[in-house]
This record gives sequence, C-alpha cells and structure tokens, in this order.
Amino acid sequence: MTRCLDCGSERTADQCSACGLTSAAAEVMFRRRFLKRTIFFLAGSLAFPYVSQIYAPLDLDLMLVFFGAIFFVALAIAVVLDRRARNRQDLEVLKRIYAGFIPLPWILAATLLLNGRLDSQKNLTYHPTTVDSRYNMRGVVRGTRRLFVHSWREGQKIERLAVNEDDYDRFHPGDAVVVGVEPGALGIPWYFAVYRQ
Ligand SMILES: [Zn+2]
Repeated sequence: MTRCLDCGSERTADQCSACGLTSAAAEVMFRRRFLKRTIFFLAGSLAFPYVSQIYAPLDLDLMLVFFGAIFFVALAIAVVLDRRARNRQDLEVLKRIYAGFIPLPWILAATLLLNGRLDSQKNLTYHPTTVDSRYNMRGVVRGTRRLFVHSWREGQKIERLAVNEDDYDRFHPGDAVVVGVEPGALGIPWYFAVYRQ
C-alpha cells in the first residue's frame, strides 16, 4: 500500500484521489514544507545556544549535551525522510515524529529566556568559593569559556560557570571569589556574575 506524500491518504493510482496531486507533485509539495520546517528547526538551534549565553544556567553543559542529542536525532530523521521521499516510500509516521522535534529548540530557548528575564535581582544570592581551574575552547563564533569553582550545592563538587572573556582572563586557579546566582523564575538556577573576594 502506498500513501500520498503530501496528504497521507491511501493512493491506488498515480493521482491521489483525496488531494488530486500526482506522486511527483506530492513529492514537490512535501519537500517544500519539509524545507520550511527544517529551516525553522535550524533557526531555533541557533537561538538556543545564543540565549543560553545570556542567562547561562548552572547546569548549562548538561543542557547542551541534551540539546546536541535532540539536534542529531532530528538531523538523522531528516536524512531518512529525504531518502524515503526520493523513493516515494511511506512517510506518515516519520513525518509526525519529525514535526514533534521542530519546535523543541525554540521551546528550550524560550524556557531559558523567561527563566532569566522574569527573575528579579532581589533574589540574587552570593556564594563564596575558590577557583579550581579554567577551560577555554576556541569556537567559530564565540567559543566556550568555563571557570571551574568549588561547588556550594550539595552532591556537586564543581560548578562550571559560563563566564565572558573578561572574567575568564581576570581569574586564575586558587583565587577567592564570590559567585552571584539567580534562582530562576522557572526554577532553573543561573549564573549572574563572579566577583573577587
Ligand atoms: Zn494526496
């Protein structure tokens, strides 16, 4: 049994009886929508790391790993969809799964944005600690800089602070610092600033 690539109805002849498209026309329609969705997904995939640098959660690296997994699964589905469309194979289930992935980067970005934007400076807490080490990975756009400090949270040894370039250069292992942390309007604690003790 074959299904129309565009509307998903069962097709007995080359022309779909539900939407009237031939199998070639249905593939064109499918690809047009597929491209739009993919662009929307990729735009969100740029928005999320961007927002995560403005209101950097304490557990940013964990979230980036999670986000990376979403990104590559979606990419893999896109590749399979493309191949199946070319062979005019049934796409219905995979199309729906893919549609579920499309808004995810935007949802993650909006969550971090609201979490930081709706937070009040009154809730800021300060944690005295010391710098353990630093980590700098040069990237295409802004790179990744982390200041590792001894954690004040229970069950956690190290906090990996997503600092900017200035703070990265300012502090060295062994320095006594105070870390400003916001609780987050949605309960995701995020790194506000780091000061010298
Ligand atoms: Zn159709």
